[in-house]
Amino acid sequence: MLINVGENKGVPGEVVYGYWEAFEHPVGTIERLPVIIAQGLKEGPVVWLTANIHGDEYTGIPVIHSVINNLNLTKMAGAIVAIPTLNPAGSRTISRVPYYDKKDPNRLFPDGNPFKEKQTPQEIVSEKTIVEKKGEVNDDLKVITQKAVQVALAVRDEKKKEVDPLAIYDKDELYPSIQEQIWARLFKEMKQSASVLIDLHNAYIKSIPFVFQDRVLYNPNKGPEEVEAAKKLLSQTMDLISTFGFTIIRETTPMKYVVKKLHRSTSGAALNVLRIPSFTVELGMYRDVEKPVVKAATKGIFNVLKKLKMLEGEFEEITEIPVIAQGEAVRYIGHPRVKTAAIIDLQVSKGDRVRKGDIIAYARDIFGRPKNDEFEIRTEVDGYIFMINEGILRYPNEEICWIAAKDVHPMVDEWPKKK
Ligand SMILES: [Zn+2]
Repeated sequence: MLINVGENKGVPGEVVYGYWEAFEHPVGTIERLPVIIAQGLKEGPVVWLTANIHGDEYTGIPVIHSVINNLNLTKMAGAIVAIPTLNPAGSRTISRVPYYDKKDPNRLFPDGNPFKEKQTPQEIVSEKTIVEKKGEVNDDLKVITQKAVQVALAVRDEKKKEVDPLAIYDKDELYPSIQEQIWARLFKEMKQSASVLIDLHNAYIKSIPFVFQDRVLYNPNKGPEEVEAAKKLLSQTMDLISTFGFTIIRETTPMKYVVKKLHRSTSGAALNVLRIPSFTVELGMYRDVEKPVVKAATKGIFNVLKKLKMLEGEFEEITEIPVIAQGEAVRYIGHPRVKTAAIIDLQVSKGDRVRKGDIIAYARDIFGRPKNDEFEIRTEVDGYIFMINEGILRYPNEEICWIAAKDVHPMVDEWPKKK
């Protein structure tokens, strides 16, 4: 089994340490990412572990250290490819985003959305070819004809736009940023070897550790096999996530997920473009490291390695941190929110179960007087408090905390189309 990431090559039975060149700064310095390839003696899956894409989220780094330093490679099948920091610049400056590209780096991996608005004429023409080919085997002529008319109109409109000699300079998608270029290259490396990806993050200062689960999205134009493949991918992913052993919180609705570009996160792109099981793990507070969380996440990763039959041994229950909402399908919402600016006197803690009508916080003015219009702020839904915004100040419409509440959306769904 040959595993390589750039110049770094895996060696059976060894841990190989090296660097992957990301890009050259204008001042000539090379930015490079540390790479670890830990390969077992036997053939098997390749698990990618990535961390610290948000520079002020550090816990994933010691988790990767703890996993790599506790492996017995003579007994392991397959390999682990670990990148302890995807964002060394943000890590050095204790900031979420790197100074050379101010966009959220966890929203810049390749875009798998087949319905993204800005299509080039070439993409529209190739979509037309697919439609025409489908027409040969699909006799639902009405649908095909309608689609062909739509495509013809789109091509005509696109040609009209091309008359503007400046149009090409407006097409931001033709000018991917430095971070997008780095991720496109790293994504190719990942594609070569990864069977599973786990991306390690931290959330708010007051947040329980949990797994963020992405929905599996599919292109309905690709037929029933695509739906079946998506369902299979979901079940493989669920198997690993359940084995990991943390609280599971689902990502937002498919439409909001795409609007927020979460399908271009590390795990979102690995799942929805590479179509490999992948998930994000949020490891409690950011800016620092909580030791019990490192221990729990190490156990979780070893559980996954055992589930994949890369290692033998018993699954270990997560006992170091609270695990909530077990067996329940929950997704997150920011709730409740304040109507007016207020000082918050919080009445709940992270991990609490709350019922509709429970008081979440009292709202006061800076003099300590109750806010007349909304002194008692109550939840309108049942759920679990899993993250609480920092500080005691809230501005109008700002959420007080984040609740995991019952989710009614399917985990396998079509890529949403913009209305
Ligand atoms: Zn993060």
